[in-house]
Amino acid sequence: MLTLETLKPPREGEAIRIADGRLQVPATPILPFIEGDGTGPDIWRASQRIFDAAVQKAYGGTRRIVWFEVYAGEKAHKEFGSWLPEDTLRAFQYYVVGIKGPLTTPVGGGFRSLNVSLRQLLDLYACVRPVRWFENVPSPVKYPERLNVVIFRENTEDIYAGLEHPSGSAEAQRLIDFVREAFGWKVRADAGVGLKPMSPFGSKRLVRKAINHAIQKNRKSVTLVHKGNIMKFTEGAFREWGYQVAREEFADKTITWDQCEREHGGKLPPGKILIQDTIADVTFQHLLIRPENFDIIATGNLNGDYLSDAAAAQVGGIGMAPGGNISDFHAIFEATHGTAPKYANQDKVNPGSLTLSGVMLLEYLGWPEAADLITRGLERTFKQKIMTYDLARLTDGAREVRTSEFATAVIENMAG
Ligand code: NAP
Repeated sequence: MLTLETLKPPREGEAIRIADGRLQVPATPILPFIEGDGTGPDIWRASQRIFDAAVQKAYGGTRRIVWFEVYAGEKAHKEFGSWLPEDTLRAFQYYVVGIKGPLTTPVGGGFRSLNVSLRQLLDLYACVRPVRWFENVPSPVKYPERLNVVIFRENTEDIYAGLEHPSGSAEAQRLIDFVREAFGWKVRADAGVGLKPMSPFGSKRLVRKAINHAIQKNRKSVTLVHKGNIMKFTEGAFREWGYQVAREEFADKTITWDQCEREHGGKLPPGKILIQDTIADVTFQHLLIRPENFDIIATGNLNGDYLSDAAAAQVGGIGMAPGGNISDFHAIFEATHGTAPKYANQDKVNPGSLTLSGVMLLEYLGWPEAADLITRGLERTFKQKIMTYDLARLTDGAREVRTSEFATAVIENMAG
């Protein structure tokens, strides 16, 4: 039962339900969305037109998304006096799947971060970031087409758990005293201190999700990225727990690197997904010089944060990088860049990140025909060198268009 204080849910459409261990998606699902601050409304308007056109074209009116606007950030603060109204949290919880544009992070304390609140409430433990290149999109590397990875970043643990105290605080002092007395650890008296928790529960469910994705999408490998040579009982344990999940839960579908070398002369047997691991620092180098070695990456929170942006830089930057925060069922897809406030209301910026997040959303609903139409529309539009300013300025012979014109071109290019 959904009880809202200020918002009125749409009269039409139905909620997605979770039953028999899976999502039950009706033909007219109600999906909450936050358009976002700054350039958010520009990219939302453009992306929503693309989503609706793709669904209409794919299913000819037998399926339709019923959008339900919910509020957060500046718009919520202005209209409801809260940066993150309870109604918004309730709507995302009740309707299971939603999407959001970028939000301003107000400077100063005393409020809950939207992303953290939603993540905690819905336990959105995997941040999923697919990174692929579209022909003609400017790239700093020579062979951007060789990169096609999906990064699964653990979203709830690691140093992001927020367990830290500032330098000079009484709390930091107590912690420093405690670890000296209990463990003989020497930490400088004026240090700020933090904890880095990584658990088997948190690590295994993330790797499990990554392997399941590899199976569903016929991917060839899952690489566990870690810094286990230095942090043995957190990062190193992540690696161990990852292999354990593969061994104990996916023995018929996966093979480890060692096994592959030992039993198959280093050649991946058909039908098996290779489970390998690499140290985080060298992964940055390898992602650049041999990106084809990576398919699915499963990694901790901090490594994943760095790696996702570094990978996105190879294929057009943050204007093109989609993402989703996903639990076992609940999911919120989002533009991964910020609000780019200097371009607000100019119909100028690239809607690609939000549009591609919508592709992820449609795939998540089990509507791949609509998702594929958008991908095809984007491929053709870039092929024609029709681009927003950010890509056009780096591309010879590009036709620079506004956000809305780009959306129109993508919709036209879905045809045929
Ligand atoms: P930003 O908004 O991501 O913008 C930085 C620059 O990135 C822009 O000036 C622009 O580059 C480029 N850019 C960003 N989005 C683009 C798009 N859609 N198309 C083309 N280019 C794009 O980062 P920021 O200025 O550091 O942050 C602004 C606000 O966003 C802050 O309040 C921050 O807290 C918030 N933020 C929110 C999220 C989120 O909600 N997920 C994430 C990050 C930041 P050029 O200047 O070169 O054209």
